[in-house]
Amino acid sequence: MSAIIYRYGSRYYINMTNRCPCRCIFCVRDQTPTLGDADSLWLDREPTVQEVKEALLALDLSPTEEIVFCGYGEPTERFDDLKEIATFIHSDLRKRVRLDTNGLGSLINGRDIVPELKGLVDSVSISLNAKDADEYLEVTRSKFGPGSYQAVLDFISECRSTIDGVTVSIVGGSIPQESEEECARIAQRMNVAFRVR
Ligand code: SF4
Repeated sequence: MSAIIYRYGSRYYINMTNRCPCRCIFCVRDQTPTLGDADSLWLDREPTVQEVKEALLALDLSPTEEIVFCGYGEPTERFDDLKEIATFIHSDLRKRVRLDTNGLGSLINGRDIVPELKGLVDSVSISLNAKDADEYLEVTRSKFGPGSYQAVLDFISECRSTIDGVTVSIVGGSIPQESEEECARIAQRMNVAFRVR
C-alpha cells in the first residue's frame, strides 16, 4: 500500500507527490520503493489536502517535534497544498515544519516562492548536489537546464534571510572528493549548515 505519511527514525515525513523536475543519478527512488516504515512510496494518485490532514491526525505524533515535507518527489510541485498543510501542522498539531527540497521550487512554480515560506517552514534542507552548474546538470539532469544551479543558489541565499534553519546537502560519493570539499566551502561562504547525506 502506498504511504502518504511514513516514519523514518524519530520523524514523520509527508509524501505528497512523486513529481520532480530532476532525474538524479543517485535518486533513492531508482533503488527501492520503500523508506522507513512505508511499504511503498510510489503513489497511485496524489492525496488531497484533506487526506494528508486525516493521515496526520490518525497518528500518535507525541514522540516527534517536527513533521517533514519530503516524499518520493519534490514537495514544492504542490506548493499551494504544502502551504495549507504546513499551516495546519503549526496551528492544529503544534509541531515544527521542515521542508526537504531540491531548491527548484521557484522555477517549478514560475514565481519566487521563498517569501511565502516565511512563518510556514521552520527549517529547510536544500540539495546543493554539485560544485558548479555543469556538474549539477550531470548529476541531477534537471529539466530546467543550465539555469538550474543558479536558481538553487538563489533559493539558498533567499532562504538564509527568511528561515532560521538552513542546511544544504550533497549525496556522499556521487561527486568527486574535491567537488564535495568545494560544496562545503560554498555552504560556508553562504553561511548555512552543510551535510553529506
Ligand atoms: S530531486 Fe530528489 S526526488 Fe528528484 S530525482 Fe533528485 S533525488 Fe530524486
